[in-house]
Amino acid sequence: LFVDTPLTDGMSVRVEGNQAHYLINVMRLAEGAAVKLFDDVSGEYLAKVSARGKRDLTLTIESLLRPRDVVPDFWLCAAPIKKARFDFLGEKACELGVARFVPVLTDRAVVDKVKDDRLRGTMIEAAEQCERTALPQIAALTKLDALLKTWPEGRHLFFADERLHESSGATLAQALVRHTGPAAVLIGPEGGFTDSENAAIRAHPAAVPVSLGPRILRAETAAIAATAVWMAAQGD
Ligand code: SAM
Repeated sequence: LFVDTPLTDGMSVRVEGNQAHYLINVMRLAEGAAVKLFDDVSGEYLAKVSARGKRDLTLTIESLLRPRDVVPDFWLCAAPIKKARFDFLGEKACELGVARFVPVLTDRAVVDKVKDDRLRGTMIEAAEQCERTALPQIAALTKLDALLKTWPEGRHLFFADERLHESSGATLAQALVRHTGPAAVLIGPEGGFTDSENAAIRAHPAAVPVSLGPRILRAETAAIAATAVWMAAQGD
């Protein structure tokens, strides 16, 4: 269970709302029952139910079970897509271990807003399910040109280009043999990048154009596949 406050041994935590409903009515936890909590700061703790009301619970932190995960240094930069598919992408990005998720606004965007709270909620649920103790950071929606202008030095920007396969360009797996270290993958919207966006990305010194194979993947499939390839190459 995620708690949005830094935890320490001996501390009492009051749980209300959906989380309390889940613990009381779904898990049917009694006083004294054990619960695992994480805070995205120091790690995962063992807690016990010290008081149980009808709609709220008090948990008392007993001990640190494991420190916060050290997540692989990988960013997923992706154009927002329609709601259900974006939720799916957020969930899978968290499960696969993405450190930072950057929604990118491009010319062919069909969706030009991101509900940060909804995305964060999806990622919290995914983290609880996969026992991840560090949540992905969620960046503000960033225009493509601003992303390129402020790109940090030393971080490879793997640019997923569905047209590259025709010109026998490198796959991400091949590029990873030569490019190690902090990385990100950039995925376009359903309509793809425009020619001028494509040229601007390619002109960036950090950009490494890569193919994800001969088939044109949906944006969320491309993002998940690229993340999985990168993680597999790192052994993460
Ligand atoms: N504009 C394209 C079209 O309509 O033919 C499709 C864009 S695709 C649905 C969305 C994004 O996924 C692309 O911008 C690209 O970043 C990524 N993508 C999809 N398939 C890919 C592939 N085979 N190799 C590399 N990137 C791919």
